[in-house]
Amino acid sequence: MLIAELNGRLIQADEVSGKSKRAAENSPFSKPAYHCPSCHESVVLKHGQSRIAHFSHLSISQCPYSENESQAHLAGKMKIKQDVTALGHPAVLEHVFSNINQRADVYVPTLQTVIEYQCSPISFAEIKRRTAGYHQVARRVLWILGARYNTGTYHSDMVARFAQYHCRLGFYFICFSKEVGYYCLHYQIREVAGKLTADTQNFFSLKALLQFLKSGEPTAKWRANTNTTRRLLLHQLQNIQRSNLKRGRTWLPSVSDCYAFNRLFVGCPMICHGHQGSGLPIFHQSILCWRVWLILRLFDDGYRFISDDLLAGLLELSREKFGLEFAQINDNHRFFKMAFKRLLIELHDQGYLRHSVAGIQILKQPVWFDSYDQKRWFILTADRFL
Ligand SMILES: [Zn+2]
Repeated sequence: MLIAELNGRLIQADEVSGKSKRAAENSPFSKPAYHCPSCHESVVLKHGQSRIAHFSHLSISQCPYSENESQAHLAGKMKIKQDVTALGHPAVLEHVFSNINQRADVYVPTLQTVIEYQCSPISFAEIKRRTAGYHQVARRVLWILGARYNTGTYHSDMVARFAQYHCRLGFYFICFSKEVGYYCLHYQIREVAGKLTADTQNFFSLKALLQFLKSGEPTAKWRANTNTTRRLLLHQLQNIQRSNLKRGRTWLPSVSDCYAFNRLFVGCPMICHGHQGSGLPIFHQSILCWRVWLILRLFDDGYRFISDDLLAGLLELSREKFGLEFAQINDNHRFFKMAFKRLLIELHDQGYLRHSVAGIQILKQPVWFDSYDQKRWFILTADRFL
């Protein structure tokens, strides 16, 4: 930790004067009585040429802030505090909110914003708990992630824990690492044929990053050409087929669900893949599983007409089964509504249904493939997939 209490006042470790450091080293009796602002136990100042001055609990302690903090974490939160201060907003390091029993890495009182710099692993439950706690005392919570998260590889559990949503930039999160010295924005996070991908942009100051979030124009909207889509779809299909042959469990729920309808999961109609197999990163596994589940219910239950109420029920049930919950975004329903609307539009455009008063009318069935090979051949040779 960077902050301790000394004689009832808060003091930052790198601001302890050289004189008092030397005095403390020379005489144990003149050691200043630093205390942890959270648990009030004694802490000692640690410093040296190669490490950042910080305080550490004297003995093994129950205090949640007694764990060893990495140098990267200490350095990062100091830099973030400096950057926020440089923007004209006084920032407080390690601000203790005693009413919720949490300590924010950086708190910006004028903006009522908590900034957490997360370098170590953290579970979904824990980040959700902390975020909810901060929302009781602050207007905004911003998680900035350390180097371990700045890899360019994305997983749905990362999106669930850290992603925020921006009307222009889509799903995004921010990384910062003191070593490289810049902020990296990962935005337009999306799923393409079962794989998550994103655009990235680096910013050498927090100011430039905030400016971009406020009014920056994202790079041209991503569009894959037919051959890229073909390659990605074949890859996803092959991945499913391999897993099935090895009796893997990854796709088993969808495989079994299709089986109950006398259908083959890998043979699902092309409409299940959607345009370019891409969409919002809001599913545990893949958009494909969600779409196949819905296509079976819409077309294989023998309906000629499906009411708006039944559609809403299906959407809700499918969200519960396949949807991600987010720690940083309050309402995930709107994303599912968007994805569902898009599916219905595509089904309409392909002539499978038409909208009528208070519901949809089924016009024809999407065609399922009989085998993996038949579908593979179709994807290999088709000019268009829908
Ligand atoms: Zn403590």
